[in-house]
Amino acid sequence: MKVFYSDHFVLPLPEGHRFPMAKYSMLRERVSANSICGPGELRTPHAVTDEEILRAHTPDYLKRVVSGNLTDREVRRIGFPWSERMVKRSRRASGGTLGACLAALEEGFAANLAGGTHHAFSDRGEGYCVFNDSAIAARAVQAAGLAERLVVVDTDVHQGNGTAEILRGDGSVFTFSIHGAKNFPFHKEESDIDAPLPDGTADTEFLTTLERGLQTALDAADADLAIYLAGADPFEGDRLGRLSVTKRGLAERDRMVLETCRDRGIPVAVTMAGGYARDVKDTVDVHFQSIKCAANLVKSRVAGRIHWT
Ligand SMILES: [Zn+2]
Repeated sequence: MKVFYSDHFVLPLPEGHRFPMAKYSMLRERVSANSICGPGELRTPHAVTDEEILRAHTPDYLKRVVSGNLTDREVRRIGFPWSERMVKRSRRASGGTLGACLAALEEGFAANLAGGTHHAFSDRGEGYCVFNDSAIAARAVQAAGLAERLVVVDTDVHQGNGTAEILRGDGSVFTFSIHGAKNFPFHKEESDIDAPLPDGTADTEFLTTLERGLQTALDAADADLAIYLAGADPFEGDRLGRLSVTKRGLAERDRMVLETCRDRGIPVAVTMAGGYARDVKDTVDVHFQSIKCAANLVKSRVAGRIHWT
């Protein structure tokens, strides 16, 4: 399976910053050690261009991000200190989602070992998100004439507020978010379908709610391509999650989303989104499960084709 990584574009953070930057390189090493990718399939994405970013963000916001002219308040809201390297990395992370979309259209599934930056609004960043990779990639694929309709399936524990804001009123990209009702962001935007969950929600309720929302979303979306945010933060050991979903429950989530899309003939680009487990290895485990599930489906698809021809 084709997998895009951008962890070598380092985002400089002050010592003790609570963002788990280490998860990205750990995940790439894990992917690399487990035969997920064939030769040449573990790739560095292109940086998204201004033109691509401007399909999702305002010119004023892009200009101020690029030139380092965000206000202190805006920088605090993003949660990373501004640097040119932050801008570079954000472009590559969105490029990874676009790369995964293009590869998924050809092979059924592909993944970005970053992205899922769903708190980025058209005119501001928030919650460690600078550019909204899902909206940028969706509109790039549409502009290239490769897909008309998309669905964003956002299972990160935090609501996809930026994605909902950017894509509001755009009938060609359907947004579904399942998230903690009482978690950040405290003011929720309106996705096409929202499934808010109470604190402490465990596997059965999480999966039942997901299944219902997913079927409704896919029926309504009539999509040619899905972008799946496989956030690791609904995990019971997450510091910020407030839910009680186990690793096994999250593996079942991946299987449900990916197999349901496969059965409907919808290719899927998998992105990582959040994950803040007390032990970063747990976050990497959960993300790796998602990648592995998608890679197995690519393998069985290839095997199936050989069998039938
Ligand atoms: Zn999150």
